[in-house]
Amino acid sequence: MSAKAKVDEEKCVGCSACVSACPVEAISMEEGKAKVDEEKCVGCSACVSACPVEAIGMEDAE
Ligand code: SF4
Ligand code: SF4
Repeated sequence: MSAKAKVDEEKCVGCSACVSACPVEAISMEEGKAKVDEEKCVGCSACVSACPVEAIGMEDAE
């Protein structure tokens, strides 16, 4: 897997739905915004589907 989830902090409303959706616990809340640990993210995109405000997208990683 090469893609990683990326949170748009301008759009994130801090609902934490993505935290619950992530199967590998790669997302945590920091100061009311979701933060993806790219070391843990396996690129499954479950969080993208879970986000109610489309604040998460997939971005190609090196
Ligand atoms: S893409 Fe999958 S593994 Fe990566 S943060 Fe989102 S839910 Fe977690
Ligand atoms: S699901 Fe979307 S709005 Fe909710 S905390 Fe995650 S990124 Fe933010």
